[in-house]
Order: sequence, then structure tokens, then C-alpha cells
Amino acid sequence: MREDGAAEAAGDRADVIVLGAGPAGLVVGNLLRAAGVDCVILERATRAALRTRARAGYLAPNTVRVLERHGLADRLHRYGQQHSLCEFRTPHGRFRLDYGSLGPGEPHTVYPQQELVTDLLAQYVDTGGRIHFATEATAVRDADGTRPSVLARDADGRTLRWHGRYVAGCDGRHGAARRSLPPGTVRRHHRDHAVSWLALLARAPQSIDAVGYAVHPAGFAGQMARGPEVTRYYLQCPRGTPADAWPDDRIWAELDLRMRAADYGPLHRGPLLQRLVFPLESDVLEPLRHGTLLLAGDAASLLGPSAAKGANLAVLEAELLARALTDDLLHDDPRGLNAYSDRCLTHIWRALRFSRWMVHLLHDLPVPPGPGASGRPPDRDALPRRPCLETLRTSRAEQDWFAENYTDV
Ligand code: FAD
Repeated sequence: MREDGAAEAAGDRADVIVLGAGPAGLVVGNLLRAAGVDCVILERATRAALRTRARAGYLAPNTVRVLERHGLADRLHRYGQQHSLCEFRTPHGRFRLDYGSLGPGEPHTVYPQQELVTDLLAQYVDTGGRIHFATEATAVRDADGTRPSVLARDADGRTLRWHGRYVAGCDGRHGAARRSLPPGTVRRHHRDHAVSWLALLARAPQSIDAVGYAVHPAGFAGQMARGPEVTRYYLQCPRGTPADAWPDDRIWAELDLRMRAADYGPLHRGPLLQRLVFPLESDVLEPLRHGTLLLAGDAASLLGPSAAKGANLAVLEAELLARALTDDLLHDDPRGLNAYSDRCLTHIWRALRFSRWMVHLLHDLPVPPGPGASGRPPDRDALPRRPCLETLRTSRAEQDWFAENYTDV
């Protein structure tokens, strides 16, 4: 019976119940299936909606290696493009960094997230993986015992209960996994940077043959490639700005102004296909495990897109989680699960530190020191932005540090 007394339809059981079919959940699902672990994925959205949800695009070298290792990178190699240049446009001139030849010397692969999700879904479903679309997990129960269950609502509004041995919480920041953590069991590290970004997708080729970061008194503007005919732009906007508040003409005028089109050449304009506004904030949970419930991807940590880390961390954590679950369930070896949270958090803190450094560099906020600092990002010792940009322009050591952190997860 449900808690409100209404009847509960029979769900099913699986050794691992995966919540969410984003990059994290689909990598976990594919790797578990390949290893022969019994699993099911519950996903709130329809399959059609997943295939068109445009988000990330810059895949780190390590992300590509993880996907290659498990035979999940064929289309990515066929259609992805390598990128290794970024251009900073500042009130004092512009400069470029060929980060593919600095630091570890590795490029990003540009491959839209919805294409990656489409590939991962096809691989999972085509090999007989169990997945329920339009099924929203509402709560994880008894995670501190050995028989956790998940309550979910299907497309007909029925409540189902799924039983398992582990739950992989890959359902993002607002999913059921996070909500089901009992108070006091995890520590939340939250930081609000008090600025928002308007994220846009334009049907137009990129205007700069590099990732463009423009710092301007009117606010930040950015450009990132997504493919030959689609480009992502970002505009800093006041907190609380609705996504449709600015008409297209204003958006292009702001982009022209902040990216200094008058000095460096016009932007390629095109219809705007997507507008999203999100606050720049970071939100990390510690630890990433509560009994038999394990978190991965945005459910574990949200860093914001300033350094393009979210999808990359999601894939890295998903591989660690799938391996740990496999070792425990098939080989009775719990060491990977016991170490899971600490191993992921090592990567998360590092990404968080760089991501915050980028937030401060790109906005009119104090900049914490870069190279040489260690551990979690310092909040004090703030430096003005101009010398930080100047050091990045002129110092090879700083550029190597930037390249390593920019491409690494
Ligand atoms: P998601 O992709 O959010 O997947 C979670 C899934 O869970 C979704 O399919 C959702 O429908 C489902 N779900 C949610 N709640 C429930 C529920 N209760 N029950 C069942 N299912 C549920 N990252 C990068 O690395 N590089 C970039 O360039 C980059 N650019 C970005 C640009 C934008 C505009 C945005 C918004 C994000 C960007 N990111 C980027 C971040 C990246 O998109 C996320 O970090 C990534 O999607 C995280 O993957 P995930 O699988 O953890 O979560």
C-alpha cells in the first residue's frame, strides 16, 4: 500500500535500479549490462525528449577515453570535432590560447550531449537493456538497509515500487535520489555566485574559430561550438531575468557589444533555437553514498557550465560506479563501493576549484589565486581580474596550468 493508503501497482526488481537516463545513468546502465549485472533504468522524460535536449558539447579527453574503453565512442569519433583554441576578448585587447599544445597537450572533442545520449540509449536498448521512459521516481526507501526500493509514477499516473540491492541516483540535482537523503546524512557545499547566464543556441556557424570568452563592463559573453550549423552563446544577465525577457534583436546587440564585433568582426546570426536562464552556482554533496544509494553526475555535484565539467564528471563517476557495483555484486568485493565517494570527490574538488576560478575570471568578481593554491577554492585573497587575465596572457606556467585544468576531469 502507498503511504496515502491507495493501491500500489507491482513494479519489478533488479539488482541495480538506475534513476535517470542522462550521460551518468546511461553510462552506468551500459557498463552494468556489458558486465552481466541485472539493472533497470527509470527515466522521467520520453525517449523523444531525451534525444533533443541540448546541453553540453565539450567532452574532455578522459571522457572520450572512458567511452572508447567500453565501445561507446563510434559515432562520437565519426561526427565529433576536435577543438583546442580559446580566445579571450578583454577591455585591453584580445589573446588566444592554443590549449591543445599547452599543459598535457590534449584537445576537447565537440559532440552535442543529445547526440551522446542518443548513442548511449541506442546501445543500451539495442542490447536488450531494460528502461522505463515517462516514469518518474518519487522516492528512494530503505537505502540504509540491504533491500532498498524506489517508488515511481508511470505515464498513467500509477505508483510502482521497484525493489533492488542498490540504487544509482543519476537523476540530476532536482531528482528523487537527492530528495530522499535523510537530513543530516550528507553535507552540502553550496555557493551562489549571484550572477545568471542566459544560454542560447543559434542556428548559425560559429563566429570565432575558438571558444570565445568576452569580458566586458556590460557583462560576460561567450561562444562555444556545437556543430557546423549550431553555436552556443552565453550572456550574463541580472538574476531573475526570465528566459524570454530579451527580444532577439537585444540579444544579438548585447553579443555584438560584449564580444566587440565592431573591433573583431561581425557575428554570424541565425534563429535562436533555445533560451535557458540559470544561476551560476555550485552545489556538491559529501559523501556521495548513503547505504545502498549512490549518487553520480549532477545528482552528486553541480558546478555550472563556466568550465564545462558537468557532463565530463558524470561520465567519469558513472564508470567508477559501474565498476564498483560490478565488483560487489559479481565478485563479492565491496572495496570499490567503499572508496567510491572519496575517489569521485577528489575529481569534483579539483574541477570545482577551476570552475570557480573561471567564474571569477569571467565576471566582475574578485579572483582567487590560480596556480600554487591547493585544496578547496579559497574565498579570501581575492585579486582583481585584470592582472589575472594579464598573467594568463603572458605566463607560460599559468597557461600550462590553465590547459591542464581546462581539459582534465
Ligand atoms: P542529466 O543530464 O540532467 O540527466 C538526468 C536525467 O534524470 C534526465 O534525463 C532527467 O529527465 C532524469 N530525471 C530527473 N528526475 C528524475 C526522476 N525523479 N525520476 C526519473 N528520472 C529523472 N557540461 C559539460 O561537461 N560540458 C559542457 O559544455 C556543458 N555545457 C552545458 C550547457 C548548458 C546550457 C547546461 C544547462 C549544462 C551544461 N553542462 C556541460 C552540464 C551538463 O549538461 C550536465 O552536467 C550533465 O547533463 C549531467 O549529466 P547527468 O546524467 O548527471 O544529469
